[in-house]
Amino acid sequence: METYNGLINNLIDELASLPGIGSKSAQRLAFHLIALPQSKVEHLANTMIKARSEVRYCEQCCNLTDADVCPVCANPKRDHRTIMVVENPRDLAAYEKTGRYEGVYHVLHGAISPMLGIGPGDIRLKELMTRLEGDVDEVIIATNSSLEGETTAMYISKLVKPTGIKVTRIASGVPVGGDLEYIDEVTLLRALEGRTEL
Ligand code: ZN
Repeated sequence: METYNGLINNLIDELASLPGIGSKSAQRLAFHLIALPQSKVEHLANTMIKARSEVRYCEQCCNLTDADVCPVCANPKRDHRTIMVVENPRDLAAYEKTGRYEGVYHVLHGAISPMLGIGPGDIRLKELMTRLEGDVDEVIIATNSSLEGETTAMYISKLVKPTGIKVTRIASGVPVGGDLEYIDEVTLLRALEGRTEL
């Protein structure tokens, strides 16, 4: 027996398809949305649509932005000669939260994974190599310590070394397989400070 009819079920199904939302949370959210004033729901929906259509990759570091360059790249006080390579914007946000990293970033939007069929051409490596034609002193590889992250780190170090630019890897204070976004700020800073040259 169906408890709710079509529209309510559709809403619950759509919400449950989002990451981290189980069926119970989806139900709770659906009823919350239905109870909101129409104008609030329209505002929420429009915010999602606007963000989806206007957010794009930063021309320099591939971070998410709604302008040509992201706030980190646009900041003249940052050290633009030090580039930290991360897998995704969430990892960038984790390092930004420490408030102690003064360089800039490069967001790969993934990691090399032969098992999943993700090769070097599927992540933003070409953009990184183009950036290295400019004035760069150091590339800090801060990919995750998973198999994919380590494979990507090795690949990048092989690409960068011939350019003569210093390549370092953050220390493994970060647990194996751990996503940077879930790691506390002290551990992130320790990993950065303890980085070693590749
Ligand atoms: Zn940027």
